[in-house]
Amino acid sequence: MVKRALVIAGGGLAGSLIALSLATRRPEVDFLLVEPGERLGGNHIWSFFDGDVDETGRALVAPLISKSWPAHEVIFPKRRRVLGFGYNSVKSAQLDAVVRAKIPAERIRRGAVAALGADFAVLEDGERIEAEGVIDARGPGDFAGIELAWQKFVGRTYRTIAPHGCELPVIMDGTVEQADGYRFVYTLPFAADELMIEDTYYSDAPDLDVPLLRARIDEYAKGIGEVTGEETGVLPVALGGSIESLWTGEAALLGLRGGFFHPTTGYSLPDAVANALLVAEQRDFSGAALFELFRDRAFKLWKERAFFRLLNRMMFRAAAPEQRYRVLEHFYRLPEPVIARFYAAKLTRLDKVRILTGKPPVPVLKALKAMAA
Ligand SMILES: Cc1cc2nc3c(=O)[nH]c(=O)nc-3n(C[C@H](O)[C@H](O)[C@H](O)COP(=O)(O)OP(=O)(O)OC[C@H]3O[C@@H](n4cnc5c(N)ncnc54)[C@H](O)[C@@H]3O)c2cc1C
Repeated sequence: MVKRALVIAGGGLAGSLIALSLATRRPEVDFLLVEPGERLGGNHIWSFFDGDVDETGRALVAPLISKSWPAHEVIFPKRRRVLGFGYNSVKSAQLDAVVRAKIPAERIRRGAVAALGADFAVLEDGERIEAEGVIDARGPGDFAGIELAWQKFVGRTYRTIAPHGCELPVIMDGTVEQADGYRFVYTLPFAADELMIEDTYYSDAPDLDVPLLRARIDEYAKGIGEVTGEETGVLPVALGGSIESLWTGEAALLGLRGGFFHPTTGYSLPDAVANALLVAEQRDFSGAALFELFRDRAFKLWKERAFFRLLNRMMFRAAAPEQRYRVLEHFYRLPEPVIARFYAAKLTRLDKVRILTGKPPVPVLKALKAMAA
């Protein structure tokens, strides 16, 4: 039996980026990417701010970008602001096409992994694949040990009858009627006649009433055109708990499964890009070495990101659900570089002080209780 260097279980965002990074930077590494879906990446639009990835990361992800904008906007009842740093979106169809064009066809296997360990994977059809190491990137795993709230949404893309006139992405339009926690609408103008509208909630519960959200989006869209695409998402927002609870197996966990996501936005693209580059730097692909490398990295990031979990607790525990939008409205008073570093999860100590100063938008006693928790 041929022993490969690496098996990557899951050709979603994290797994596909690792495969792309290896194919472009270390073409000699014999890996196999195993994905049950017809399309790598499934059906998503992933977005990120310019500051979320470094120069090398940008070079990796650049061919996947469907659209970039030089700035973006936020709108609240008492604040409207254009932020002058860029925003980019990756559509999964483009990710699939680019990754397949760069990777030899025999390195992608259509199939589901039924079991895996540090150096083997067994597919659902019974085939056993031996490898020096295995990366488990099968999407969210068991989050029972993490205290969670949710960012959930339905997004619909419209082909508009007339030019819609929106130039910039609106990351948050918090002027809509509040419901189920903090509600906002997010819009991405992909072309003069193509607009994605997403109805989003920072909610205590993960359940998603898709027909209701569709109706709300259609109401917001005011008959601008026909729906050409739809995505749904329920992303973790971390309030507390233990990262150790995720890392109980033997194989390295990447993507959401390993805890590699921004605690407040649930976004994982920046971490997935950085991790994909790190995989390609390795000389030792043994399961034990990969497990140790990425477990230590996940633990380190979890510790560094404690401040975001504190902010999340303040938003979810100290603010009444219909008042949560005020936390974000207040946050957007800050200078652009602080906001950019917030989204990149790279806040300085001074940034943290600045975020917490000013007249708090939530009751002080409740905020102190949430901080102490
Ligand atoms: C609709 C949506 C929009 C999002 N938008 C953004 C965004 O704008 N920016 C951002 O940074 N994040 C975004 N996220 C959050 C997060 O980045 C994504 O969920 C991201 O896809 C997570 O990457 P992943 O590789 O961990 O999981 P996934 O991308 O979900 O990939 C997991 C893969 O594993 C495969 N798989 C499952 N079971 C098996 C098995 N048994 N064997 C083999 N393979 C298996 C799945 O088919 C899937 O392809 C979004 C999430 C959703 C759902």
